[in-house]
Amino acid sequence: MQKIKQSLPLQIFIALGLGIVAGLIFLSAGENAVAFTVSYIKPIGTIFLNLLKFIVVPIVITSIVQGVVSLSDIKKVGTIGLRTIIYYFCTTAIAITIGLIFANLFKGTYKVLQTSDLAYEAAEPTSFMDTIVNIFPSNLFQPMVDSSMLQIIVIAIFVGFGIIIAGEKSQAFKEWIDSCYEVFMVIMKGIIKVTPIAVFCLITPVVAENGPAVLGSLAMVLLTAYLAYFTHALITYSIAVKTLGHMDPIKFIKGAFPAFLFAFSSTSSIATLPVSLECAEKMGARRDVASFTLPLGATINMDGTAIYQGVCAIFIASCFGIQLTFGQMLTIVLTATLASVGTAGTPGAGMIMLAMVLQSVGLPVEGIALVAGVDRIFDMGRTGINVVGDLSAAVIVSDYETRREAREGKKAAAEA
Ligand code: ASP
Repeated sequence: MQKIKQSLPLQIFIALGLGIVAGLIFLSAGENAVAFTVSYIKPIGTIFLNLLKFIVVPIVITSIVQGVVSLSDIKKVGTIGLRTIIYYFCTTAIAITIGLIFANLFKGTYKVLQTSDLAYEAAEPTSFMDTIVNIFPSNLFQPMVDSSMLQIIVIAIFVGFGIIIAGEKSQAFKEWIDSCYEVFMVIMKGIIKVTPIAVFCLITPVVAENGPAVLGSLAMVLLTAYLAYFTHALITYSIAVKTLGHMDPIKFIKGAFPAFLFAFSSTSSIATLPVSLECAEKMGARRDVASFTLPLGATINMDGTAIYQGVCAIFIASCFGIQLTFGQMLTIVLTATLASVGTAGTPGAGMIMLAMVLQSVGLPVEGIALVAGVDRIFDMGRTGINVVGDLSAAVIVSDYETRREAREGKKAAAEA
């Protein structure tokens, strides 16, 4: 009992199990009981998600500003940023490749669904240049109001640079940011303490609404996606944190587990950010690095989403009787990697971007309607993996920075 009281991951895990059991009970109790979970249990989960979303913006701004200032060198910020982005792109490309391999292995087991009366309206795609332009804010407050993470990151980096360059004169402003950080951190820790309740309230209605019968014909596609998610998490990240981050993979998996569970229940990388920051800190990642890599990852790094897009593309192709060529699969790797940058860390965003992936190889966008009904189930796993991927970067880049500083320190000592 003492152990449960002390361990948040354990509490979250138990809450998840209880939520699944409760969901099944409500499901078996009939329609009214399911409606009850949606009307009265789900809103409690939504309140927690709202609180996390409210706290995430001030936490990200203040922690990135602090991170940039503590690096005290504009070039260093650039190097960390570049390394993180390269790592994110490489792991996403590996993720989608794993997704495609699994989907090709399992495609024979998929139940071919009717495609004759499908309808799905794809959102207007944003061009690559527009995506770049949209990273830069035209207003100081709008990005905070809209929780546009990339724009918020840019603002925070500029403010950090401003503090470094203004030197002495920026002292009061810097202290104010430090103080804000402490205040928001206290609030965040308070909100995180009630995460198990949130997890229970989020998962119960999902299970009640998506009973086993709904999964039926899509069970094999879901299984493929989950196998690929876990293969990527257990193999790619383990190798990456071991070889690049010099961390025991078991320690990493254990450390990232609470964030995984929360992402799984909330289906939002952005809302999971406060939990991820806490996990990174507990795993020994540097705060200056984690506060930069995690928000960036929550916005542009979506390995789970890429896997899902690969698996769904193959499934939709087989329902339409289309055989994808090797060249088309390479195109999927490329577009899904780029699409992940444009995918917001919010529930269901990956499904919207699936349209772009399908269009890139000429697959019918209406096919999305085949998987839309169970998107939440795909989303739970993919968001979990997205967040674990972000944490792996925090660990690896932290280790790299610490080693680099040690090397530079030695060099400076030898020169002195
Ligand atoms: N829900 C995912 C996330 O927040 C994005 C997606 O829908 O794939 O990371």
